[in-house]
Amino acid sequence: MKNIIFLAVQGAGKGTFAKKLKEKYGYAHISTGDILRERAAVGDELGNTIKNLIDNGQFVPDDIIFEAIEYKITQPECEKGYILDGFPRNLAQAEGYSEILNKLGKDLGVVINLTIPNEMLKQRIIGRRLCKECGAIYNIYNDDFKPKVDGVCDKCGGKLYQRADDNEESMNTRIKTYFEVTEPIIDYYKKQGVLSTVDSSQEVDTVFSEIEKILGSEDVNN
Ligand code: AMP
Repeated sequence: MKNIIFLAVQGAGKGTFAKKLKEKYGYAHISTGDILRERAAVGDELGNTIKNLIDNGQFVPDDIIFEAIEYKITQPECEKGYILDGFPRNLAQAEGYSEILNKLGKDLGVVINLTIPNEMLKQRIIGRRLCKECGAIYNIYNDDFKPKVDGVCDKCGGKLYQRADDNEESMNTRIKTYFEVTEPIIDYYKKQGVLSTVDSSQEVDTVFSEIEKILGSEDVNN
């Protein structure tokens, strides 16, 4: 099993494909956004600071993220491999992550860059709906991802909601930040020879099978 980093601008499908890999192969799915939203929900001072940053599309400080990542990747559920969704998000995080891996004697694995044309992003982000109960992801503007009944999860019947930061203003901040701060990581991993790119605007099944090919059928079945 390999560890995987999904690099992509918000709305390109990191969460969707991480969930599919988890379901099919048992990889752990580590979403720093989910970890931070959980922490924010505690409602204490740190939680409120995190919530404000998230709602405005701004980054949470690196030291909070490093602590969460180091804790998560040493948990038993990560032994079979894990998917990082939303981390690293800047060069300092990519370098810090390499140091954490060295310290723990773990491999980096593969880095998959999911690309998507800018004009598709808005629909993906503004149309995104999530299940409160099981976290399943839907999109009200895409027939492949629409829930069968408006506002209700197909999988568990849970209520669907829209993330507070999935609005136009926060989306624009997040996309701008991605291209300024996150994209340089692509070069960092390209130079290390660990980067693969998949066009995420294709049909879901096509994107997923390209991801599986990158992971190697032998490897993912082990
Ligand atoms: P996501 O669910 O990945 O779209 O993340 C939602 C929000 O959580 C981001 O817009 C940031 O405010 C925060 N966040 C998630 N991951 C990170 C990270 N690695 N570094 C800093 N902030 C993060």
